[in-house]
Amino acid sequence: MSKIGFTEGPCPVCNYKESKFKEALISEKIYGQYLEIDCPRCGNYAFILDDFDDIHELLLSIINEDELYWFLGYTREQTEIRDYNIVNKLRSEAGTTESLSYKYNKLRNEPFIRIAKDKIKEQIIFAIKQAPKTPHDKAIKLLTNLANSNRFPGNLIPLDSEKDYTASYSGSAEEFRYYLEYLEKNDYIDIRGTNCIITVNGWKVVNEVQTMKNLPQCFVAMWFDQSMDNIYLKIEKAIYEAGYKPIRVDKEHYTGDVTDKIITEIRKSKFIVADYTGQRHGVYYEAGFARGLGIETISTCKQDDIKNLHFDTSHLNHIPWETEELLYEKLKDRILAIYGEGPLKNNDNPTNN
Ligand SMILES: [Zn+2]
Repeated sequence: MSKIGFTEGPCPVCNYKESKFKEALISEKIYGQYLEIDCPRCGNYAFILDDFDDIHELLLSIINEDELYWFLGYTREQTEIRDYNIVNKLRSEAGTTESLSYKYNKLRNEPFIRIAKDKIKEQIIFAIKQAPKTPHDKAIKLLTNLANSNRFPGNLIPLDSEKDYTASYSGSAEEFRYYLEYLEKNDYIDIRGTNCIITVNGWKVVNEVQTMKNLPQCFVAMWFDQSMDNIYLKIEKAIYEAGYKPIRVDKEHYTGDVTDKIITEIRKSKFIVADYTGQRHGVYYEAGFARGLGIETISTCKQDDIKNLHFDTSHLNHIPWETEELLYEKLKDRILAIYGEGPLKNNDNPTNN
């Protein structure tokens, strides 16, 4: 690998000219040898050393050059949402060759996210799926990314449209400036020369977005088969309307290690809903893991599948359901009976937006 010696050069993902590289050894054998990149435009992340020469070409075999921003916005955001104090501490640690992104995720007990050739297609699909789509949503995303890169209210935040357009999932510097203007007109930011400052009004919006993100969550363990799509929507609705945030780890649309991600999300959950319809091993495993951690489970199962339940779980007082509508009603009642109303109130289901 001839490019190991690089300390600065064009970013293999976005082509930005002055990106920094560092060879990073990931300590665990399963990850192996990585190259870490610090790109002012698309962020800090690691990828497999051997993929260096192919990564741009590979990206362009899946999406067009002018669609790349979907992906760059995602990688940039993953960097912006990190905790400033932890990043600074990790950066100042001397004598380590471990990747910053790896160490950060390890410290936060989150799966290590890296760009890898064999996963790049999934990663792009995931990035596009979670990206803001409307101009308003892109502007608000920019505002929250500016807030994340900002240590204290009142700090001046430097703006460089050539580097920073990715923070708004924009395709160009011009589009980025358009969102900045929108934020200024709505009194969310003040632009001061080549910097900006988030107004008190802007912080209010940022806090609202963060509150939505930090709601007590409920992990949903179920069979992810197409035949279950409508069932999931009803489960999601019941959880939202009881005031909690449903989380599912959809295996097709997750970029990191799926098992790690599932375990992380279960740990973070206040309770879990496990639907045993279809008798999937994964559901038994996830519910068992939650019980082992002392996290309570609400069990549900389609009436005609109850007889197939494994005897280990037959004492769990499953909610039997015949129709999706009944499942929704019974589940919502059970959640409210056990946990009371969560902080998300007024039947405000963000998925309806
Ligand atoms: Zn880049």
